[in-house]
Amino acid sequence: MGQGNSGKEVSNTQQTSRWHKYESYSWQLDLTTQEFSCEPQAMKSLFGYSQPTISAKELLKRLPPAQRNKAREVLRAAISTHRVRYFHCCIMTPDSLFSYVEFKITVEEHSLLKGTLLPCLVIPSDIVAAEIFYAMFENFHHGMLVTDEKTRILACNRHFEKSTGYVLEDIIGKETSVFNAEKLSSDYYKNLWDGIENNGHWSGLILTKRADGSTFPQKLTIHKVSPGNGESYFLGLGTDLSDHLQCVDDRQAGGVDLLTQLPTSDAFLNNIEDDPQPISQENIQIILALQPQFPEPNAQETKRQFASYLLGNKLISHAGYIGDDRFAVVMKVAIADKKQGIRLIRQAIKTFFQSFKHSQSSVALSLKQGLTGVSIRYSRDMAPKQLLSHAVQALLELHSGQDKRVAFYDRNIHEQVERKKCLEIWVEESIENDSLQVFFQPIVDIKQGRIDKFEALCRFPKHPQIQTSTQELINTVEDIDKIVELDDALNKKALSCLPELQSLFGQHVGISINRSFNAKQDIMAILRHTTQSIDDSGIPANKVTIEFTESAYFAGDRYQEELLASMRKAGVLIAVDDFGTGFTSFDYLNKSYFDVLKIDQSLIQGIGAKTRQYHVVNAIVQLAQKLKLKVVVEGVETLDEYIALRDLGVDCIQGYFFSKPLSIDELRNVEDYCTLPVIDGSSESSVGTISELVTPNLPRVDPGESLSLIYTYFSADELNVLPVVETNQCVGLVDRVAMNLHMTPSMGTDHETNKENSIWQKAVHRMMSPPHAVLDWRLPLGEVKSLLKTHALPWVLVDSDSRFKGLVEQERLIQYLVGNEI
Ligand code: C2E
Ligand code: CA
Repeated sequence: MGQGNSGKEVSNTQQTSRWHKYESYSWQLDLTTQEFSCEPQAMKSLFGYSQPTISAKELLKRLPPAQRNKAREVLRAAISTHRVRYFHCCIMTPDSLFSYVEFKITVEEHSLLKGTLLPCLVIPSDIVAAEIFYAMFENFHHGMLVTDEKTRILACNRHFEKSTGYVLEDIIGKETSVFNAEKLSSDYYKNLWDGIENNGHWSGLILTKRADGSTFPQKLTIHKVSPGNGESYFLGLGTDLSDHLQCVDDRQAGGVDLLTQLPTSDAFLNNIEDDPQPISQENIQIILALQPQFPEPNAQETKRQFASYLLGNKLISHAGYIGDDRFAVVMKVAIADKKQGIRLIRQAIKTFFQSFKHSQSSVALSLKQGLTGVSIRYSRDMAPKQLLSHAVQALLELHSGQDKRVAFYDRNIHEQVERKKCLEIWVEESIENDSLQVFFQPIVDIKQGRIDKFEALCRFPKHPQIQTSTQELINTVEDIDKIVELDDALNKKALSCLPELQSLFGQHVGISINRSFNAKQDIMAILRHTTQSIDDSGIPANKVTIEFTESAYFAGDRYQEELLASMRKAGVLIAVDDFGTGFTSFDYLNKSYFDVLKIDQSLIQGIGAKTRQYHVVNAIVQLAQKLKLKVVVEGVETLDEYIALRDLGVDCIQGYFFSKPLSIDELRNVEDYCTLPVIDGSSESSVGTISELVTPNLPRVDPGESLSLIYTYFSADELNVLPVVETNQCVGLVDRVAMNLHMTPSMGTDHETNKENSIWQKAVHRMMSPPHAVLDWRLPLGEVKSLLKTHALPWVLVDSDSRFKGLVEQERLIQYLVGNEI
């Protein structure tokens, strides 16, 4: 039927004999006289004329208007080509409703056309016409849709309803744009309507949206019908290809691959270009070229499901189909710490692969068995097109016979990722084979001069080729989500060694164990679990400290608070590990979940009396004391660090200065272990001298320090006066009154002006006053009473080199005098 209207060209040799229900008739048309004649019987039955000849015009009048033009076109084509033509049309016959006929047209001479006329189908009545129309419209294979000239839906057949999920009632009167899947480019639709406008019809592949929002591919033909009654209709005829996906495999329309419904290469690359997100060393894009292995015989269906899984995958910012069963995706990764770059890249790719666990098994398997090429985009200047071709190149370098299934375009990254993969295997095997060891590092209480506890640290067997660190291996264990197993094993070993450590170093000695929250298991489960393993070990809870690093995991909800509280009630101490790195905030210290603050090594490196670190650690120590937290400083390596920290009032020191982590075997053989160093002068006894009266742990401030710092001290503590110390000399004192003189009532409130705001920066030396009384710290206590008469308080105590040793204030002095009954 499709071929008829346009008058198909057929060569002379191609004529076939056909069975005819009706007789065929000869005709001829003289173009010079415009006379048409044919056999009398046909003239009568088909055209209703008794005479042998009628004008060409009369003949055409018997055809519906749109078909007249076609007839003219075919006749012209026959003349110009001199070839046989066939033309199908309807003739409005006198004794029946109409007849569907075939004209065979041959060119006899230049102006004489001849041929035969075959009535194929005589439609005797409107009832027959209606039945035939109905059977054709309501067929079981094609969706049919009729709209008015504004594409408003007039009717559709049942098959259309079935394939789209719509019912006619819901869509009647609506425009056909309701079926627009909004995936194909607008150009595609423009071409479609241009085609209809110019040729009266369009045919092609298209994606159609169902009532439930899903999309299916179909072969669609749209005809514009203008029957001459002043109205026009669009007639749509579609074949749903959902069950014939091979018809759309690797075929695209409007920038979209029809089977996968993903953007094709160009559209995908445009999407990346148009993405406004910044790209930098810190915000990279990972481009993956994926070549999954789709299983036969359902390759196309799995491919479609694979694509739909990609589309719904939240890890991906862009996905595309690049042909030949290959896909491309882009993921964004934030790299806060450069050193973690490879780890984060690898993690992102692993997470992407793992996300397929939730897809149908055939989809997950096809990805797993497929190949992946990776390239990395560090800056906007790197063209997406080039990166995609890099990723594809990396993919092509993989051979399906190999074990390796992921390759990086960048050699360096590739090697680093391979290294990481080896480490993952290494740590997993170490955990499975139970070849982990526990080492112990002493935490020395420098006020009491003895080992307080040992921190248990994990040791892996040495990898034969790869240089690594415990930290990296622990991170790797976290990446493969085996940290809970590792911590369990290590904790158990560590707890079992405590009795021996106590017999070696004293019964007071405790054990500090590390617990990571960087696991899929939730915090509550890990905490409960840890409590259980302490109970199982038979070690008294008050000898155990648990160190947590990832404070960010604390939601601070009621359940966590209660659980921590109950653990602490049982005697377990909770320590914040690596304080000063990562996410730890002062705010959550205040929540009193913890007993111990472990200050990270990075915070004390290069600490000296006047350094910035000194002030930072000083502030932390002050705060910790106020919150009644014990302070441990990690990574102390030198005597200078030790002295500086001791002077700041730190409770415990851990670090190579005392000992590296050692195995229990090594600890059995140590001598003079962890004794406090003798430091010139300062270890002299202060007994019986006025230095006993010094206010303990009084912060010292630098003359250049700002008003805001002393304001913090005075607001946080019950302090009266602060010594201002420069190169170990006390150069002045600041008290609350002096500070208040420099402040205004609105400072620190919403009404603070810019000028007032700048007052916070005012230097301490501008508000200090010189010390009234400077006394030798070795003066005997017995002289206190007479000194009181001659020297106003507070007293600044100094050593023989005028180095500041502390302040004596009224409160302690009175306590002393009361104790000694003045
Ligand atoms: P961490 O908890 O901060 O442990 C202290 C780390 O500092 C240990 O490294 C220790 O050997 C090292 N260290 C101690 N004193 C000094 C010093 O004076 N100078 C220097 N440069 N380093 C010092 P290690 O044993 O390599 O462990 C690294 C990290 O691995 C630990 O840091 C901890 O976060 C983690 N870790 C170790 N064992 C375990 C474990 O059993 N479970 C968990 N979850 N994490 C563990
Ligand atoms: Ca630790």
